[in-house]
Amino acid sequence: MPNLISPNQVAFVPGRQIQDNIIVAQEDLHKLKTMKGKKDSMSWKIDLSKAYDRLQWNFIRDVIVEAGLKGSFVDLIKWYVSTVSYKAVLNKEATETFTPGCGIRQGDPLSPYLFVLCMENLSYLINHIVYFGYWKCVKVSREGPPISHIFFADELILFGQSSITQVEMMKDYLDTFCKLSGQQIRFAKYCIFCSCNTNERVAKSISKVCRSPLTKDLGKSLGVHLIHGRVRNRTYGALVEKVQSRLASWKSDTLSLAGRVTLIKAVTSALHVYTIQSAKIPSNLSLNLDKLNRNFLWGHKDTKKTTHLIKWDTTCMPKNRGGLGIMRMKGMNQALSAKGVVCSSTWRGIAFGAKLISKGLKWRVGYGCQILFWLDNWVLLHGKVLTNEQRCMRGMGLDASCPRCLSGVENIEHLLRGCKDSIGVWEDISKGITSSPTFLGNLDAWLTTNLRSNELVNGSITTGGVLCDHSKSWLGGFVLNRGSGSAIEAEFWGLL
Ligand SMILES: [Zn+2]
Repeated sequence: MPNLISPNQVAFVPGRQIQDNIIVAQEDLHKLKTMKGKKDSMSWKIDLSKAYDRLQWNFIRDVIVEAGLKGSFVDLIKWYVSTVSYKAVLNKEATETFTPGCGIRQGDPLSPYLFVLCMENLSYLINHIVYFGYWKCVKVSREGPPISHIFFADELILFGQSSITQVEMMKDYLDTFCKLSGQQIRFAKYCIFCSCNTNERVAKSISKVCRSPLTKDLGKSLGVHLIHGRVRNRTYGALVEKVQSRLASWKSDTLSLAGRVTLIKAVTSALHVYTIQSAKIPSNLSLNLDKLNRNFLWGHKDTKKTTHLIKWDTTCMPKNRGGLGIMRMKGMNQALSAKGVVCSSTWRGIAFGAKLISKGLKWRVGYGCQILFWLDNWVLLHGKVLTNEQRCMRGMGLDASCPRCLSGVENIEHLLRGCKDSIGVWEDISKGITSSPTFLGNLDAWLTTNLRSNELVNGSITTGGVLCDHSKSWLGGFVLNRGSGSAIEAEFWGLL
């Protein structure tokens, strides 16, 4: 699927997350809201109604053939799509079975993939005209990728320049797609948001051509508010109401404590996952949501007050530390923002999550294939090479002395240029280098010069190697002088 579907679509494609598109939409809308200068832009939010039920079977067949499926597999999918039958319930009685003439099966695991493939056809049409430069996309930053459209399953947002010709072109392509696929677009139900620098007269003409009303707020996408301005408590007011109404429908007195804890964890915490993973919610709101959960846990109501048996701080601790494992809304918001890694409210969310990431971030060496020994700062320059000094510091050994010369502490400096043995190697490679000021200077600077820059401590490059037989017995060796060059060139000679 990731090879067939363009990055503009994220739903049902493995490895892509829905919040990726939510973040792109938020950033684009933020740009539109703050746009200055002559370039103006607009976004058009479209919601395909009954998108699943309207897909034409011939169109589905064409799409899967286009996707590269062949022969019996195409027949199999065609058979699967067209052999569905339905019964309707009318006045509490089931009607006769009838077969539809279009649409894909609701609730079937294959249907989302077929639907996404069909929508890709529209994405292809748009990308095609974007490629030839007819569709003027929106760029969030000068170097950022141009955005023309994003899809959230059956919801799509188109971005383009605020001009009549652009909008007419968008409408033509939508009409073409609808004719091919059987989709129906009700323009009056959608809305258009123009950037703040769009001329009012142009905006009104666009709205007239599209037959969609102008708006200052595109509303929600996948249940998440596409925020245009500052995040306020009332932006997420609906979130509190949703949790309140859900909690009110359960009778907390009839449930055991374990049941109430499970409901809080499984339902009320999950209600707003999408919302809180793409934005930082106000602190007041997280405290309010925590309060609702707390009151539900102890059966506390407006009419009946109960004692909270355990402190909320303790309740929120993990189970292995004596708590009930209920998550605080603020912590959950930060953890989920860190997962989505969310100026705009989205970026404030990302920054909020990033703080948490930096606390828990560490290098996992694993097989070491991603570690650049000579170039990664932390390996050489931060003293992470396991010398005898390091071993003693970590309690892994008692003797910090150098096993080669037995006359000093074996640390990184000694290993590379302090030990008699090492000095011997340097002297053999290039006469006189060990007495030069660059050799004796600061270790970090010396390492950086040799590893990072094209500067030369000493210009001559010498390569060498040893030859062994199958039992690892030494057969012979060679040394070659390669003239002068940089440290990187020396590395290349070493490889050759
Ligand atoms: Zn030594």
